[in-house]
Amino acid sequence: MVSQQMLELGTARSVIRELFEYGKQRAAVVGADQVFDFSLGNPSVPAPPQVNQTAVKILTEQPDLIHCYTSAQGDAQARERFAQSLNRRFGGDYTADQLYLTVGAAAALCCVFRGLTCPGDEFVVLAPYFPEYGVFIRSAGAQMVVVPPEIEHFQIDFDALEKAITPHTKGVVVNSPNNPSGVVYSQATLERLAALLTQKSGEYGHPIYLISDEPYREIAFSGVTVPWIPHLYRDTIVCYSFSKSLSLPGERLGYVLVPGQVTDAGQVYAAVAGAGRALGYVNAPSLFQQVTSLCCDLTADLAVYERNCALLTGALREMGYHVAQPGGAFYLFPRSLEADDLAFSERAKQFDLLLVPGSGFGAPGHVRIAYCVQTEMIERALPRFQALADSYK
Ligand code: PLP
Repeated sequence: MVSQQMLELGTARSVIRELFEYGKQRAAVVGADQVFDFSLGNPSVPAPPQVNQTAVKILTEQPDLIHCYTSAQGDAQARERFAQSLNRRFGGDYTADQLYLTVGAAAALCCVFRGLTCPGDEFVVLAPYFPEYGVFIRSAGAQMVVVPPEIEHFQIDFDALEKAITPHTKGVVVNSPNNPSGVVYSQATLERLAALLTQKSGEYGHPIYLISDEPYREIAFSGVTVPWIPHLYRDTIVCYSFSKSLSLPGERLGYVLVPGQVTDAGQVYAAVAGAGRALGYVNAPSLFQQVTSLCCDLTADLAVYERNCALLTGALREMGYHVAQPGGAFYLFPRSLEADDLAFSERAKQFDLLLVPGSGFGAPGHVRIAYCVQTEMIERALPRFQALADSYK
């Protein structure tokens, strides 16, 4: 007898992984260059050269030190470098002891949900949302409450959000730049969100934490600003990752930032650390604590994502697809050409286009296109998108 919940998680592959596996099988039949796999958010640009140089330097100069356990919250010097970088960039007074280093943003989120959850708690997520939130929140013993999407611009449907917030709400999760829509929440949207959460926290007599999941923070296109949310709302907890900005998804390095201004900041930080302990994370990978902290002011060459976005958005719109304007990340979330996004994704497969149905992101009637691929592949895929559109005429 095993845990039913874990058995289900372990056997039911995510739709994204399902498509990815299908793509590999299909490539064996028709050839890899004839399969247009837009399923996975795996960065296509290499990490900046300084990352490898720094790793080599550390491995050469400190071979006896680097493979050790670190403090559970992360090496003090590494956390200090992250704190100073945040202060330089966003003008705060963050300190090393407000940072808890994690195995990517996924672990950061798990530590925050688990650290905050008391019996009966709920976390509100805004569709379209990263599907793993459901897994992380439920595993922490909380309920996930979904706010339906505002499908014109993918900002926030505030009437729906207000209805979703109850005395049980422990936190609201935001992700901007967003996976899967690519949309960046505007300053006005975030100010309105902050005002609503401040009002509701007062009404219910307890803080409603805003959990800002921001692995795409640096991937913002020309003219788009990604507001620094802790400046707008006091009770913001930041979950960050170097998976996308430095193109290091396999190295698993991220952090939780619990700014000192957060209500009960010391307790929240300790509970996040306690959750990391309960989950057996021990410490984030020690080599990459050092490497990322020495390279945290750099990014991979992210410009290619903006070029891919312009190419794909322009072409799809000309073909008649409806696409909300993205401001960053590396995803497009067009409407499917029939109401049933699963059927549309199936039909796209006939053209060897692998597009992820929007239902899994809480936004049926859409598909996600991860365009963090070679530009040349997008160019070759355009006739397939046209043929897919023509098949509906
Ligand atoms: N949050 C969002 C919105 C993501 O898209 C991802 C990964 O794709 C994660 C969290 C997890 O990132 P990490 O690889 O750092 O665990």
